[in-house]
Order: sequence, then structure tokens, then C-alpha cells
Amino acid sequence: MSILPHPQTLLNALRRVWPGGPPPGSCLLCAADSDNALLCAGCNDDLPRLPATHCPQCALPTTHGERCGACLKSPPHFARTLAPFLYDFPVDRIIHALKYGHQLVVADWAAHQLAAACRDGVFDLIMPLPLHPARLRTRGFNQSAEIARILSNTLKIPVDRSSLLRVRDTAPQAGLALKERTGNVRGAFECRRDLAGARVLLIDDVLTTGATANECARVLSLHGVSEVSVAVLARAVQH
Ligand SMILES: [Zn+2]
Ligand SMILES: [Zn+2]
Repeated sequence: MSILPHPQTLLNALRRVWPGGPPPGSCLLCAADSDNALLCAGCNDDLPRLPATHCPQCALPTTHGERCGACLKSPPHFARTLAPFLYDFPVDRIIHALKYGHQLVVADWAAHQLAAACRDGVFDLIMPLPLHPARLRTRGFNQSAEIARILSNTLKIPVDRSSLLRVRDTAPQAGLALKERTGNVRGAFECRRDLAGARVLLIDDVLTTGATANECARVLSLHGVSEVSVAVLARAVQH
């Protein structure tokens, strides 16, 4: 049973607390005392977690944890997706704050959620999904790079934020169908380092169709990467 207030009440609270952030020591979502954590225990317990049974490759929830139809039909270039949450309220709001609110405290929280989701894997290198330089200039912040930096410290795995580049500024993926998304990101990335045999953990905030992560994984595998795992804060499920 949900112990959260009505979603609208929460939304109002969010609008009130962003972009300035909640009072120190209080929950980002409901402003209750959180003992200096980002979220209070109640909000944390109520976050939409990824179900235990999901596609091992793309993290889409499936009935018995089997591979999903999309991965069977057209296997992605990445081996697995690790995700603590579903992209649903209020995780979508937290990610929005991370992307546009420049809240490093949120990046810190996100990295620790990812660290827990990734702790059983074996990786040689952490790489954030790169932003195009023009996009980075307007936004001033690559949330994936920030998460990757903190995750690298936590997991004691080196981070490489310069070898994988976004060389084409693509249209936003939102609103495009899978086939269009795949075409949209074709040729968008380049890798300028030989990564022979490396097991790479690729970091992004949300995985929707996986088209962008798949294109990165394809480029990385052309540069010798032996295995790409994707870690995202949330898996979006299109209804
Ligand atoms: Zn709360
Ligand atoms: Zn799948």
C-alpha cells in the first residue's frame, strides 16, 4: 500500500522545491525529515523498482525473466542491462532534476543506486554515454558523466570520459519509433581508442528502446571491446 501523498500533492511539492532543492536535511520528494539523505525512508520504499523477472539483456519486465521478443528477434550489441528502477513517477521527476536542475546531490544518489545494481558484475572500464559538444554547451552538464565519475570512485573501476565521442548532434529520440530511433543514432558515435578485450560498463540515465546504447555498444565492439553492459537508473516501459 502506498504511503505517499496523492501524486498531485507530490508534484506540487516538487514544483515548490525545484530548482532550488529542498531544505537541507529533508526529502527531495516530500520535504519530510530525511536524516540528510536525498529521500526519506517512506519515499525510498515506495520507488518503482525494476521487477525481479526481466529480460536479462534489456531489462524489460518479462513474466518469468526470459529474454524479451525484441532481444530474441534482433539481439542488441550489449550483453546486459542493469537498472534499479522503472521509469515511472517519481523516478522520472528525480531524473528530470538530475538533467536540468544540475543537482550534484542527485547524481550522487543515482550513482549509489547504480553501484548497488552493478556490484556483482565484472568491468574493466566505466564509460558515460556522451553528449554532443553543442548539447553539452547548452546544458552545461552531462548527467551520465557525473554519475560515471562518482560510480568510478565507489566501484574502484577507472572511468573513461574521453574516448567515446558523440560526433553527430541527433534529434531527440523522444517521439520516434524504434526503427526511426535506430536510424537517428546511426553514425552518431565514434571511439578514438583501441579497447581490445575490455569489459565496458556504459552509463546512461534511462533506457527506452535501447537504440542509443545499442549504437554505442556497436561502435565499442568495433574497437575491440569484448563485452558491453549497460547501467541505467531507470528502464522505461512503453505502454
Ligand atoms: Zn519523502
Ligand atoms: Zn530484451
